[in-house]
Amino acid sequence: MSPRDYQALLAEAGLSATENRLRVLEVVGGNGYPLSAGDIYRILARSAPVNRVTVYRILERMVRHGILERLSTGGRAFHYGLAAIAGQPPHPHFYCTRCGHMDCLSPASLPLDTTRLQRTFPGQIEKIEIRLDGICKNCLRKMELETGKRRAAP
Ligand SMILES: [Zn+2]
Ligand SMILES: [Zn+2]
Repeated sequence: MSPRDYQALLAEAGLSATENRLRVLEVVGGNGYPLSAGDIYRILARSAPVNRVTVYRILERMVRHGILERLSTGGRAFHYGLAAIAGQPPHPHFYCTRCGHMDCLSPASLPLDTTRLQRTFPGQIEKIEIRLDGICKNCLRKMELETGKRRAAP
């Protein structure tokens, strides 16, 4: 998405396109996987000074306005990614319980089609959040190296 798309996205959601909101959207939208608020703050602070509380407030507001989705990690900090309104179809996420890295899985990997459920479910479904927990390939590799080293030791 280009900066102009982000401006349109904010306008669509009824938010004015402030400099900081655009910067937050560029970081979240330009990243291939969801980031924690702390990560987003650190990336922003690298290019220009920004207030940490401001970043947290912007994230919360954009979640309320449906631009970003807030993903739970089962204890540690929430992660943020673009929501469906930003052209992101619902998709499951993988969370590494060792290093805290979160990845977006392809929408086709675990179809999240609620139309059938919606036919019998009396309420209105607004959001699906599916998180698969496990150990990422980087951590697996590290664990293998560690056990290999231990075995090699006398
Ligand atoms: Zn990991
Ligand atoms: Zn995602």
